[in-house]
Amino acid sequence: MILRVALPLPLDKLFDYLPLDNTGEVGARVEVRFGKRTLIGLIAEVVETSQVPTNKLKPILQLLDATPMVDQELLSVGRWAAHYYQYPLGDALLHLVPILARKEIRPEPTPTPMFRLHQNADIETLSKRSVKQRALFLHMQQARKALDSSSIREAGFERRVLNSLIDAELIESFTQSPDEEPIRVGLSKPHLELNSEQQIALSNISSTSGYTCHLLAGVTGSGKTEVYLQAIEPHLLAGKQVLIIVPEIGLTPQLVERFSSRFDAPLVTLHSGMSDRARYEAWERARSGAARLIIGTRSSIFVPAKRLGMILIDEEHDTSLKQQEGFRYHARDLALVRAQQLDIPVLLGSATPALETLHNAHQQRYQLSLLEQRAGEAKPPSFELLDMRHQPLETGVTAEALRQISAHLASNNQVLVFINRRGFSPSLVCQGCAEAVHCTRCDAAMTLHRRPPRLHCHHCDRQTPIPRSCSHCDSTELRPVGSGTERIEERMAELFSNYPVRRVDRDTTQSRQAFETLMSDLHSGEPQILVGTQMLAKGHHFPDVTLVVILNADAGLLSADFRAMERTAQLLLQVAGRAGRASKPGKVLIQTQHPEHPILATLLQHGYLAYAQQELKSRATLGLPPFSYQAIVRAEAQRQGWAEAYLMRLRQLLEQAGAQELKLMLAGPFPANMEKRAGMFRAYLILTAPKRAALQHLLRQARSWIEVDPEAPRVRLSIDVDPVEST
Ligand code: ADP
Ligand code: ZN
Ligand code: ZN
Repeated sequence: MILRVALPLPLDKLFDYLPLDNTGEVGARVEVRFGKRTLIGLIAEVVETSQVPTNKLKPILQLLDATPMVDQELLSVGRWAAHYYQYPLGDALLHLVPILARKEIRPEPTPTPMFRLHQNADIETLSKRSVKQRALFLHMQQARKALDSSSIREAGFERRVLNSLIDAELIESFTQSPDEEPIRVGLSKPHLELNSEQQIALSNISSTSGYTCHLLAGVTGSGKTEVYLQAIEPHLLAGKQVLIIVPEIGLTPQLVERFSSRFDAPLVTLHSGMSDRARYEAWERARSGAARLIIGTRSSIFVPAKRLGMILIDEEHDTSLKQQEGFRYHARDLALVRAQQLDIPVLLGSATPALETLHNAHQQRYQLSLLEQRAGEAKPPSFELLDMRHQPLETGVTAEALRQISAHLASNNQVLVFINRRGFSPSLVCQGCAEAVHCTRCDAAMTLHRRPPRLHCHHCDRQTPIPRSCSHCDSTELRPVGSGTERIEERMAELFSNYPVRRVDRDTTQSRQAFETLMSDLHSGEPQILVGTQMLAKGHHFPDVTLVVILNADAGLLSADFRAMERTAQLLLQVAGRAGRASKPGKVLIQTQHPEHPILATLLQHGYLAYAQQELKSRATLGLPPFSYQAIVRAEAQRQGWAEAYLMRLRQLLEQAGAQELKLMLAGPFPANMEKRAGMFRAYLILTAPKRAALQHLLRQARSWIEVDPEAPRVRLSIDVDPVEST
């Protein structure tokens, strides 16, 4: 008996070891000696013979799991993904093991501590001033069941509040191992009555069984979430688990709340903000089948679930569903692979579906349901384009926009100002020689921040104090040029001093708590101004926002990346979708230098799907994805020219290997859009083929050369299959 083990190494193969006592099952972890190192690996295969002579095979050091940690179903998803995304097999398969279990020998599931009110607990023993304590007391009372610490935290209560109630003997804690949990699944709240569009969508989704992929394309505010809730209900009631994947910033307590308040079913969340231990525990509860709702960001596609009944991908167009470094998998695409294997349905939802997804729907590979009206009372927002040319701009805001902001505030409404840059100003420019202060490690200007004062490179994270003078000409006249969120916030506060101004970007919402406080301030309904980045764009429901101002719509209109316009269209409509989501009508102002741009016209007059139709036509004419398949080989090196020279050689090798006969088109190598980043010089080569198989074949060729090429160590290479960005 020979164990073929996946190890966390950048080599595309498994390593053969001998078992101890003839034991070891596929999917169990082992500890092995590799060279001088001791590594934790995963048994990927158990075979009878090895290519390596038996006397050269080493035994494993230790078998870590008596029963498999990873099941066959996920192992085959992992293998598929390693193959398709051209990523080393061992490293890919270890993605199936939670981080904690890749590091520690025995991550025994600690029984989850649970919390409940003491039988005779009386809220009146708490002082009236202990507002948070009282709120948690009421929360526990309403829950009418024991809660774990993560769900208490998700509901917005800090650990110290919980501890103080435990100290006061109002709450007791006890432990429960995942398997002992009695599981009752039910509805804790009735459904909303669906409107006719929602009904049709739901019956489309529910009428099929086994593997099918549904796309629910519904404008913002059309009630997609209600359809999700009713679509997953039969699966939950039948005792199945449902996996819900959302973009990183889409995973907010609000979203979790919508699922947890509808169903009385154990729920776990998984996201990057959790400790390895907490993630492991959530993973374990999903694996055992105890957690019925599993809500997580992209890596949750690898979470095992014993009785998975359905996979739901919300905001399926979002590029954060694709990992952009290392193992560059797409969670949506892996969801389809997984669902096919399990013969279960997948539901994709978005207001602005990816063009690939729409194309698949047009090809009848997916079933399409449309929601074209907003649900309930809400009306669609109206759009107005504001020409920025020849306008005196108040730090980037036109006089007309200011007039309308003022009017909306005066009628007691909230205003959202969207700008896609954080910081005070994207550059600090010398008035003597017109040079901006650049990052020394990147081809990029440093962003000026005021709070706290510093220059910050948003590409490599380098931070420096603000210089007093220009390093080129010594002039001391350095001026901020352009606006970021801080500057707009400051300007709005000056102009509208009677109203609160709040800023929402990565700098102000580091903690979940900060974000929650902000959301609750907004829900007070007081007139106020919100200034923020795309953090504001996703999923949030702001019932009192009636005006959305987009300060600059132009970024994607002129970009070299053919996908930039699609991203811009998605972002514009997502941001616009925050306006008028309740009974008040919404207005969206879009500032642009190109008010006559035909794409803006289509998008605003006829909506996203009309735009997408046009864009798909032009992609078809140009032979671009989704009408062809792409991969990008990226290279970076410490010296300028190395990466490009390497890719040039690779290009020649691919040409010799018959790229032309396979109809593979090669473009580049090109220097990256920002050639130097974090001290490395970068270049890329684009491969486009009409057939996936041809692309896969040639990429495999390329990898086999790279593996044995003596020059390869000078450059860092990565292969990106189905890239979402091409510069
Ligand atoms: P989406 O996810 O499509 O942007 P939501 O699911 O957030 O939309 O729904 C927007 C609003 O409409 C929510 O406040 C929701 O409660 C409400 N809503 C959804 N469906 C209905 C319905 N059938 N009847 C009344 N209100 C609804
Ligand atoms: Zn200067
Ligand atoms: Zn930098």
